[in-house]
Amino acid sequence: MDLSYIINELGEDREMYFNAVAPPIVQSSNFAFKTVEEMRQLMLDEYSGFLYSRGMNPTLEILRKKLAALDGAEDALVFSSGAGAIFAAILSQVKHGDHIVSVRDPYSWAKHMFEIILPRFGVQTTFIDGTDIENFERARQSNTTLVYLETPNSFTYELQDLTAVANWAKEHHIVSIVDNSHCSPLFQSPVSMGIDLALQSATKYIGGHSDVVAGVLTGSKQKMEKIFKSEYLNVGSAIAPMNAWLLIRGLRTLELRLKKCDTSAQLIFPRLKEHAAIERIYFPFDPDFPQYDLAKKQMKGAGGLVTIQLKTRDLAKIELFCNSLKHFLMAVSWGGHESLVFPSCANVLPSEFDGENPKHRMVRIYFGLEDTEYLWDDLKQALDKLLTRE
Ligand SMILES: *Cc1c(COP(=O)(O)O)cnc(C)c1O
Repeated sequence: MDLSYIINELGEDREMYFNAVAPPIVQSSNFAFKTVEEMRQLMLDEYSGFLYSRGMNPTLEILRKKLAALDGAEDALVFSSGAGAIFAAILSQVKHGDHIVSVRDPYSWAKHMFEIILPRFGVQTTFIDGTDIENFERARQSNTTLVYLETPNSFTYELQDLTAVANWAKEHHIVSIVDNSHCSPLFQSPVSMGIDLALQSATKYIGGHSDVVAGVLTGSKQKMEKIFKSEYLNVGSAIAPMNAWLLIRGLRTLELRLKKCDTSAQLIFPRLKEHAAIERIYFPFDPDFPQYDLAKKQMKGAGGLVTIQLKTRDLAKIELFCNSLKHFLMAVSWGGHESLVFPSCANVLPSEFDGENPKHRMVRIYFGLEDTEYLWDDLKQALDKLLTRE
C-alpha cells in the first residue's frame, strides 16, 4: 500500500463527518443501540464495533487502520503507553511453567516484567546476547514459548537478525515479539519479515511532538482479536480519543520528520567520531559499527539517535559537557521535534560512578528537527570545553 495513501486517506470516511479534513475526536465513553439485537451482537463480539471506549472508538479506528497498514500487518491495537503494549503483548503469550528467551537489556519495563513480575507467576526468562543467532538455540528449553527482541536497542543499538530469528522461532513453535520503537514502521518492517508481534512506543516518532504517551501492537487479526478480548480490555490501558487524534496528526508528518532526524544524524556522526573529546560513537549506519551490514540489510534508515562515549574519566567533565549545551534539552525519551541528550551518568549515584566503565561515560544524543548546523555548533562548543580544560 502506498505510504501517501496510508497517511492521508486510509480509514478516513469524511462523508461520515461533514467532509471535515481533520477527523473528529469522538469523545464518548459509550455508544447507544436502537435494538436489543444490535446491542447483543456487540456484547457478544466487542471487537466488531463500538460499544465502550475501553475497547473500540471511532477516532481510534482510523488510527488503527493506518498503523496496521504501515506495519504491513492485519491489525493494530493502540495503548495508552508503550509499556502497556509491552505488558499486554507478553502477558498474552505465556502461562505458568513457560520459559522466555529475551535479548539482554531490553527496554527497562520489559526487563522489570521478566525479572520481577513474571517469576511470581512461574514464568522464567533467559537473557541472551542477541547479536549471535546461535545463542537463541542455546537458550531454548522444551517449555520456551516466547522470544522477545528489541532491534536496535535504543542506547548501544545491538541488532538481531529478524528474518533468522523469525525462522528459528517458527521452526520451534515459539511466538516472536519485537520492540520496533527505534526504527518505527517506516524504517523497519518486522511483521513482513515473519515476526509475529511488533510493538513500539508511539510516544517517540509516531506522536513526534512530545505531547502524548502511547503504544502500538501489530500482528495477525487472529492474535490481535484474542489479545483485544482478553488482555487489552482487562488491563484497561486503552488510549483516550484525544491522544489517538494527536497520533493521527503525528502520522501526517512522520516521513518528513524521520528523514530530517536521519539526515542530521548521518551528517553529524562522522564529525563526532573525529572529535578529540570522544572515544567512541555508537550508530548503526556507521561503517565501523560491528553489525553495519545487518543494519543496512534490515533497516531503511537509522533515525536520529547517536550515542557518544566521552574520553574523560572525570564525572565533572561529563556533566560540564551536558550542562554546557544551549539548544539540546536534557531529558529522557526521544522522537519529538526537540533535540535531546540523555547522559547515562544521570542513572548513577556520584559515589558509584566508575570512570573506567565505558557505559558511565556514554551520552545519548537525539537529533530532532532543528537545523543541522545549529545543532552541530552547539555540540561542538560543549565538546571543545572538555579539550581546553583537560
Ligand atoms: C519509550 C520506550 C518504550 C516505552 O514506551 P512508553 O510510551 O514510554 O511507555 C518501550 N521501548 C522503547 C525502546 C522505548 O524507547
